[in-house]
Amino acid sequence: MIADNDPMGHAIADYHATGKAARLRVFSPMFDEDEIPVKTLFRPLDEMPAIEQDALKACRGSILDVGAGAGCHSLALQAMGQQVTAIDISPLAVATMRERGVNDAREQDFFTLDGRFDTILMLMNGIGIVGSLSRMDAFFDQVDKLLAPGGQLLCDSSDICYIYEDEDGFIDLTAVDGYYGEVTYRMQYKKIKGESFPWLFVDAETLAEHARRHAFKADIIARGPHYDYLARITRR
Ligand code: SAH
Repeated sequence: MIADNDPMGHAIADYHATGKAARLRVFSPMFDEDEIPVKTLFRPLDEMPAIEQDALKACRGSILDVGAGAGCHSLALQAMGQQVTAIDISPLAVATMRERGVNDAREQDFFTLDGRFDTILMLMNGIGIVGSLSRMDAFFDQVDKLLAPGGQLLCDSSDICYIYEDEDGFIDLTAVDGYYGEVTYRMQYKKIKGESFPWLFVDAETLAEHARRHAFKADIIARGPHYDYLARITRR
């Protein structure tokens, strides 16, 4: 990824350098304009949502932090004495992680990574990088390649069916074209505009069904307060 196209990387680098950042704006045809508070990308362990803390406690062996951002989970794991490899496609995020003390931070796309890990961690709706259900085959092929025997993948996501809820509380998904959790985002930080990218929110049942098709299973090990959940994916 080149810096001109990397609003989140610039936001992370600015916040790291100065302790503050401008607005990291998020656009999607499906939602009103939103923003990611850049500070949350630097959250310490005690400010992480409970399902993220649960995920960190469940980590063991050699750990891969996928889409590690500013490195909050990698740093928390290192402080617990764990061994972590952090990857991100943003060079600015990777440079920031190294400066913050992440021992093994690499500029690397998950889908082309080689290696073997006991735990693969994908947090903050980390499985979103799969982009669409049509890429689940490629995703599970890659998980199969990267996961050591007996290994686990821990990821969180949300069932975003609630965005289709009407005033009476009914959720009607029949009118939605394709899978309702497939979203397109674009980000902007100051004048830096990123390209639009697909992002997947997957409900627990659909994730479990795709895992089964690929000789894996997905167990829900924790639930959050708003349709969010933590899943553990292992080989069957
Ligand atoms: N996990 C971090 C950051 C989440 S933002 C946290 O919880 O705070 C998602 C991150 O994933 C971004 O930094 C983005 O650059 C990275 N990313 C997106 N696609 C990726 C891919 N294919 N491989 C590795 N990282 C990716």
